[in-house]
Amino acid sequence: MELNLEEAFDGPVDLSHRFEISAERLDRPELLQIEPVLFSGVLTKAPPGFVLDGEIEIRGAAICSRCLAPVPFARSGPVHWTFAPAHRRAAGEEDEAELAEGDLDVVWYDDLRVPFEPLIDGEVQLEIPMKPLCRPDCLGLCPTCGADRNAGPCDCQSK
Ligand SMILES: [Zn+2]
Ligand SMILES: [Zn+2]
Repeated sequence: MELNLEEAFDGPVDLSHRFEISAERLDRPELLQIEPVLFSGVLTKAPPGFVLDGEIEIRGAAICSRCLAPVPFARSGPVHWTFAPAHRRAAGEEDEAELAEGDLDVVWYDDLRVPFEPLIDGEVQLEIPMKPLCRPDCLGLCPTCGADRNAGPCDCQSK
């Protein structure tokens, strides 16, 4: 899906979309499963270019890095992007006042058509835990016999 920033010239544009996420594209081996991501929001023309405010719903599961059990993750809440014309950055005209503090999600555009998927992928990437754990004290699998040590000690440990 593409965001057509031009549409916001005439007034705020309501956007809602369900994104089928490609786990392959995310390239995160710890990702077990990802549900379609739901987004709904409003695109508005505002300095320094455009802003997109909305709500995002992300749901999925990662793999425990110790015992391989599924570790669910979810986020449902506000999301915000600022779109600023790339020529302004090139000219070193970044206006501190317009790019308020916390506005880290600035998308520099050359073209009024901006691919939306990479922005959604970026949000999903932040939700996938770096070192997923099913619980903080997960005991993991026995390196010798492969038994899940959370279920109890294996024979290797008693020898
Ligand atoms: Zn675990
Ligand atoms: Zn063992």
